[in-house]
Amino acid sequence: MKKYIGAHVSAAGGVENAPLRAHEIGATAFALFTKNQRQWHSAPLTADSISKFRDNCAAFGYGAGQILPHDSYLINLGHPAAAELEKSREAFYDEMHRCEQLGIDRLNFHPGGTLGQILVDECLGRIAESINRALDRTHGVTAVIENTAGQGSNVGFRFEHLAQIISEVEDKGRVGVCIDTCHAFTAGYDMRDPKAVFAELESVVGFRYLRGMHFNDTLKTQGSHVDRHAPLGTGELGWGCFEYIVRDPRFDGIPLVLETPDESLWPQEIAKLKKFER
Ligand SMILES: [Zn+2]
Ligand SMILES: [Zn+2]
Repeated sequence: MKKYIGAHVSAAGGVENAPLRAHEIGATAFALFTKNQRQWHSAPLTADSISKFRDNCAAFGYGAGQILPHDSYLINLGHPAAAELEKSREAFYDEMHRCEQLGIDRLNFHPGGTLGQILVDECLGRIAESINRALDRTHGVTAVIENTAGQGSNVGFRFEHLAQIISEVEDKGRVGVCIDTCHAFTAGYDMRDPKAVFAELESVVGFRYLRGMHFNDTLKTQGSHVDRHAPLGTGELGWGCFEYIVRDPRFDGIPLVLETPDESLWPQEIAKLKKFER
């Protein structure tokens, strides 16, 4: 096993362009949006786009464990209102289905929020039910819950929230988590002491559920609940936690994905991360 390190690349012009862009920056992993992340509806993937995506992934060596698509920002799988919840569940199914079509084995998503109208417990229950419904309608794709900064009314900022959702998902083999370093820190976890944070992740959630990581430094302080990414080493975190993760075998074989704001730095950030590997 080894580390898969990359970035969330653009899928402009078609999803088939994402693996090309990842290859150009020296990435061994990548994330993408399989549809416009700010619109409810996108055209279905064409057969041509699907086959080119698969061909390009094969040509540049991107297999299972190296691709972590991100779902639309509009989806709220814990929405308090029935009609909107249903709309989010349909959109989430569509995202999972696109992954199936592309041969991708996991989908990263933000769990959702209470909008101040329901209790956190109820919101977490709705999210788990949303996942159960999507898993019932799809095959071979794992639903990967991303921890959040806890901005606004978003849930998922405590590891306990992730564990509670997982506990209510029926197929434990197709649910996982993705930890975003910026979100964890601004949610209150001290990522400058990664050993302690990941010991807590192990005891509350378990590394067996870890399906990806988002690598971001942060402009905002610990516990601020504000989500502002920064290039690695330029924010509150520094390089320490990233070096720790790259050297730790518990993070082998999963996508480690930059979502840092300056794309021009990605080749350098990836190269520096790769050098930490022993
Ligand atoms: Zn995200
Ligand atoms: Zn993220």
